[in-house]
Amino acid sequence: MTAPLDSPAEALKRGSRHLRGTLAEELASPEPGFSADAQALLKPHGFYQQKDRDRRGDPANPPVLMVRGRIPGGRLSAAQYLVWDALAGRYGDNTLRLTTRQSIELHGILKGDAKAALKRLHAALLSAKGACGDVVRNVTQAPNPWKRSGLSQLDRVAESLARRFEARSNAYAEIWLDGERVDPDSESEPLLSEAYLPRKFKIALTAAGENLVDLYTNDLGFAATFDGDGVIDGYFAFAGGGMGMTHNDPTTFPRLADLLGWIPSDQLLPVAEAVVTTQRDHGNRGDRKRARLKYLIASKGLDWFIAEVEERWGRAFEPRDLPVWRTSPVLGWIPRGDGTWALGFHVESGRVADRVGHPLRSALRDLVEGFELPVLITPDQGLILLDILEDDRADIEDILAARGIDPASPSRLHDRALACPALPFCGLAIAEAERVLPEVLAHLDAALTRHGLAERAPVFRMTGCANGCARPYSAELALAGQAPGRYALYAGGSEEGDRLAFEVAQKVSLADLPEVFDRLVSAWREAGDGAFRDFAARIGADDLRAALTREVAK
Ligand code: SF4
Repeated sequence: MTAPLDSPAEALKRGSRHLRGTLAEELASPEPGFSADAQALLKPHGFYQQKDRDRRGDPANPPVLMVRGRIPGGRLSAAQYLVWDALAGRYGDNTLRLTTRQSIELHGILKGDAKAALKRLHAALLSAKGACGDVVRNVTQAPNPWKRSGLSQLDRVAESLARRFEARSNAYAEIWLDGERVDPDSESEPLLSEAYLPRKFKIALTAAGENLVDLYTNDLGFAATFDGDGVIDGYFAFAGGGMGMTHNDPTTFPRLADLLGWIPSDQLLPVAEAVVTTQRDHGNRGDRKRARLKYLIASKGLDWFIAEVEERWGRAFEPRDLPVWRTSPVLGWIPRGDGTWALGFHVESGRVADRVGHPLRSALRDLVEGFELPVLITPDQGLILLDILEDDRADIEDILAARGIDPASPSRLHDRALACPALPFCGLAIAEAERVLPEVLAHLDAALTRHGLAERAPVFRMTGCANGCARPYSAELALAGQAPGRYALYAGGSEEGDRLAFEVAQKVSLADLPEVFDRLVSAWREAGDGAFRDFAARIGADDLRAALTREVAK
């Protein structure tokens, strides 16, 4: 069946007077929440309207908002981090959630507080504009705790990409910041179009050979190369990655980005524009499930896509060999190039909270404030404090020890494990993720320890549905929620993020996970492979399935 030309979401965006819709009127009304149309238009302003699904049926359970920041490269000054922290306490649920796109989300904001929160962000030169919705999302960038000169050059590149693709609409300023009103008819969106993009669009930046940004999961990625003086001389360009899919719908699938070729450094913005506008003009606007760039490339073919981009760009990609990828650890004390130190914190599921016996949020706040430390959020939901003076190291260690905070993760398995927020607030969640991650990791850790493989723990990720917000399909081992308490099991991705995982089993229950993990790890140990990723990729889905019993995998 042919998809309709425009889905209702397209008509809504197109008729929204550049993302205004009825947002201003509904914001001023005494209703606790927004209408369905307004909720869709809230997204490009950085908001999702949510409900606490644990309190369904409770009349005192108002709709609340999640706000997400636009923080290119996850870089924040000390003052900016403190504003996010203050907002979490003043308007949110007293937690900050670090995201896999190096941003911060605040949950539980009442509609009546939304404007004040965004004004406070704006005063600190922060924004939520474009953090959600069918626009170019937060540009991610390989974290650089080492202050390597090559990676440092990416800071301005991330900023210029973020600026170039920001929606031009003045709606954000008018609605949330009481900015001067502009006639929507006088505005235009030459890059994004009047209906904005068909779906979200993700851009990532790194240096060739260093893939801490999970480059292949992005719609568009650039990996910098350097000349003999260490100055960026070009980029490998990639396109067509994306994690989202729908269980049991083979027309949807996760996909890793394709290498398009190498480009000179001054061609980054023209190539990015050619890729974004190709998706703008040819992306599927009839079926939102198949609207990401990856489906355009999969349906029309990579050759067609490259030819289209090259025609728009006016030049051709140069074929070059990629260096081997690695992912450098960013946890713990790391010397910086200028004599200062960075301190990388493992943050379970990215949740910065004060828990009994583990007051991480207040400890971080006190360190950032007391030592005036800039902050870097990593694509693995971690947080790095920067520019720590040698003389302050011992004091910082004492402060953390006094609070019982260890920046290191509890085990190697925890180092890079991710979970999406899922229940209770994500409206799409089918199963738990963040809330059961500690229990799931404990089961996997136990199996790894039992078989003597804890130091070779795989990269593990978990989501509450198939959408894949925590990038499960590029992990070595992953679970994606399929039904309440049941998960599809994936294996075979690589630590370096350049290999796609495949489905091993469906509807594995939480209760069966200890047995499932034990059988998988036992089979890996018996096979004698060095890394789980290599074992899983070598023996494939059928043999992995055979390693599980019928009782635990159907
Ligand atoms: Fe929600 Fe699914 Fe994304 Fe998790 S993966 S945050 S459950 S949409």
